[in-house]
Amino acid sequence: MLGVLVPSETLPMSCSESMPLVVILMGPPGAGKGTHAGPLSEQLGLPHISTGDLFREHIRSQSTLGIQAKSFMDKGNLVPDVLVLDMLFDRVSKVDCKNGYILDGFPRTMPQAKELDQRLGSRNRIIALNFNLPDSTIIERVIGRIACKNCGRPFHKKFDPPKIEKVCDNCSGPLHQRDDDKEEIIRKRLEVYRVQTEPLINYYAKQKSVLKEINSQNAKAQVFHDVMEALPSTPTAVSR
Ligand code: AMP
Repeated sequence: MLGVLVPSETLPMSCSESMPLVVILMGPPGAGKGTHAGPLSEQLGLPHISTGDLFREHIRSQSTLGIQAKSFMDKGNLVPDVLVLDMLFDRVSKVDCKNGYILDGFPRTMPQAKELDQRLGSRNRIIALNFNLPDSTIIERVIGRIACKNCGRPFHKKFDPPKIEKVCDNCSGPLHQRDDDKEEIIRKRLEVYRVQTEPLINYYAKQKSVLKEINSQNAKAQVFHDVMEALPSTPTAVSR
């Protein structure tokens, strides 16, 4: 867990006392979205929903959706919107999302962002956190990252190594590198990010009080602190 303690009276609201809060984690691959999503989910009491993880679950269970998605993911391309949208909206319709949720890896295209806005209407508070990082750092970060096959806990070979090599600190599961984190694929994913996803920064910047910039080059604890600071605060403690 990160070394940042946030006093309960200054915690951002999980919105059971207000509108549901939808936090969108944006930024290129390797910018820290997945790293901070877990602790943020714990701190806010809101579910972490990663479309990449949902697809990987479908791939593991060899569902039709998983088989379709894999052919795009293996090449570093985005999965077509039509396949993403149904899966995502099905997930966020579950009861655990009633007070809000944290989106990691969604939206990634303009049609996805517009569809999300349309579904949410004005009944939700949206905050888009843009984790920015220079290109030079991205490749180094991504090719070193590994994650637990069982619980998904992320590690980094150089910056955040497990206590025992290839073994998860959390559940002792085996650690592995994602196929699409290999260098040639990550270069392709970055290119796709620039063309299809980066324009969303401007889209959210035009909406009042939605976009917050996070300097992801800082130390992990500092980044998490900045994330918490960027969220709306409430004088009362979070209710879970
Ligand atoms: P991630 O785990 O977020 O890096 O996503 C891994 C891969 O899943 C991406 O490179 C895409 O192929 C696919 N993917 C995840 N989320 C989306 C999305 N919102 N739209 C399209 N493809 C996605």
